[in-house]
Amino acid sequence: MVVAGCLSQRIGDALFQEVPGIDAIVGLEQRDNISNIILDSFGTSQPGAYMEPLLGRSKHEIGDDSTRLLIGPRHSAYLRISEGCNHTCTFCTIPSIRGPFRSKPQAQAVEEARELVESGVVELNIVSQDTTTYERDLKQRHGLARLLEQLATLDQLDWIRLMYIYPAGVSDRLIETIQSSDKIIPYLDMPTQHANDGVLKAMKRADTQARLRDLIERLRREIPDIVIRTTVIVGFPGETEEAFSELLEFIKWAQYDALGAFQYYRERGTPAAAMDNQVPASVKKERLERLMLAQQEIAFAKNSARVGSRISCLIDTISEEGTATARYYGQAPDIDSVCLIPNCTAQPGEFVEGRVVDYDHYDLLVKQD
Ligand code: SF4
Repeated sequence: MVVAGCLSQRIGDALFQEVPGIDAIVGLEQRDNISNIILDSFGTSQPGAYMEPLLGRSKHEIGDDSTRLLIGPRHSAYLRISEGCNHTCTFCTIPSIRGPFRSKPQAQAVEEARELVESGVVELNIVSQDTTTYERDLKQRHGLARLLEQLATLDQLDWIRLMYIYPAGVSDRLIETIQSSDKIIPYLDMPTQHANDGVLKAMKRADTQARLRDLIERLRREIPDIVIRTTVIVGFPGETEEAFSELLEFIKWAQYDALGAFQYYRERGTPAAAMDNQVPASVKKERLERLMLAQQEIAFAKNSARVGSRISCLIDTISEEGTATARYYGQAPDIDSVCLIPNCTAQPGEFVEGRVVDYDHYDLLVKQD
């Protein structure tokens, strides 16, 4: 068992004590050596930690993701366009682990995308810690919009999906770019974290509720079929019942298509962990339940309204009984609900047209044409 990523960088060889059976722990700076590390671990029963001091690389260096092996479906892949983050959200430890924001050069990102598309990828999910900031470290304006325009020229690519959009970074140019392309699907994963101005300020987020409302209205007006997913934290230090109620009202108003909600976690070494107005665990739990129930009503009502409509679905897998697990553009891989299509005749990676005939909780039931 090889452990790699933020957690291994953060905790290092202390993970050996916490999780028995680990063969190797791989720090972020050692990621590109992972195949050699795996081969080495076959030759020894001695576990190894392959770590380097944080931020050992030059500030502008970002790893090369080309020639990678896709271990998931062959038709859908993540394209990492930057590394690190310059924001200082008080609950988050990622900048201390991943370092300052640095963009992958546009030519490199496009080349990696081309390679993925040539290997059969039809859906590219654009990821980073802060997608909207792309190329601002290189003093370029509208970097993300320009990159998207380049990616949209790849012939065999059908869907380009944007993840981790920082709301304050959404520009008119970005909205226009999404609007004007068939390939950049109208889907935004846009974490808002909270909606009460006091909590947003304590979180050191750049948004206010008024600006968030304005942005959501603008997105819905300019891109009528847009699907918006968000993430919020409940029980942040100092979140009063009134502040939580404001968040709840905002969520009901915003009518997000999908929402991930988390109880605030006191992340070691972050400013928020040291705040003295922590919210009791029982209150956090109760608030999370109230929020998720409110969102459930919204999601089920949206699903109900979709019954009878026609959609185009990308097939992810087919069961032995012939039921496809698929997604329409409003469903991101791994995190969102899915479409279930019984008696499906298509193969993974193909698109099928169909009609929504029912829904089962968050999932849609679709009849293929
Ligand atoms: S929450 Fe996101 S934007 Fe904020 S510091 Fe962490 S990675 Fe950066």
